[in-house]
Amino acid sequence: MTATPWKVSLHGGHSGEFCDHATGSLREVLDAAIASGFKTYGVSEHVPRMGEQYLYENEIELGWTVEKIVADFERYGETIFQVAEEYADRLTVLRGFEIEVVPHNSYVELMTTYRQRFHFDFMVGSVHYLNDTSIDGPPKEFERAMESCGGLEALAIQYYERVAEMIRALKPEVVGHLDLVRKNGHLYGAVDTPAIRDAAEAPLEAAREHGSILDLNTAGWRKGLDSPYPAPWLVRRATEVGVPFCFGDDSHGPDTVGAGIPEAREYLLQNGVKSVTVLERHGDAIEKKPVRMD
Ligand SMILES: [Zn+2]
Ligand SMILES: [Zn+2]
Repeated sequence: MTATPWKVSLHGGHSGEFCDHATGSLREVLDAAIASGFKTYGVSEHVPRMGEQYLYENEIELGWTVEKIVADFERYGETIFQVAEEYADRLTVLRGFEIEVVPHNSYVELMTTYRQRFHFDFMVGSVHYLNDTSIDGPPKEFERAMESCGGLEALAIQYYERVAEMIRALKPEVVGHLDLVRKNGHLYGAVDTPAIRDAAEAPLEAAREHGSILDLNTAGWRKGLDSPYPAPWLVRRATEVGVPFCFGDDSHGPDTVGAGIPEAREYLLQNGVKSVTVLERHGDAIEKKPVRMD
């Protein structure tokens, strides 16, 4: 197999071992990454949401509690280190986690503490909540979030403000699915109005300032959107501002490892992005490196 140095995913690798809505074991996910031709693969399991009110319906049905998801994540933090060593001769496993911005008044400290405690290589900064309500869940929950914000446009504007605030507070290596607001938002109207496009400038500026990489996240296609996250206008604007991209397969089991990456490369090239930025581990240090795709 020819070497494809641009083929690195920095968001995904969720597994049924640590996550209610993923399948397979972590090792099965990594075996799938090897089979799919990855030489470096970033795993970014979800942090627990600290509060009963944030438990997913599925978790409640399974009888899971906050204590249970906290324990699962702590087990992940230890396991990912052992597994990365175990795979080191075949695959560079980057040890990461995907954050939550809840509870709003304590998430920064919680995420910082997790990062230090488990010596993670990288962080995926994602906003899945507004006003304590998920914007990533079922539409009826998104409707509650819209009510709390005062409509779709106000929600989208507030969303981009929260993303910018999160980037400034945590300086994540990777920003996850920058326009996640499209996932449910497109069902209710336009999520690229002039006011929304203006609001999206703040996270782009914050990403540029703090050196964060945007995740070109292929899950958008799997959620039935006409483009991955982020949409073409955001890809072009990010490039104008000087914010780089990486790939994120956002895999939630072996079957989605590497999904959509060749198409995502084409998509980036079509939108004027000629290189992606990958992460490399050198000893204890993580370094960013741009890699051409053409
Ligand atoms: Zn997930
Ligand atoms: Zn996410």
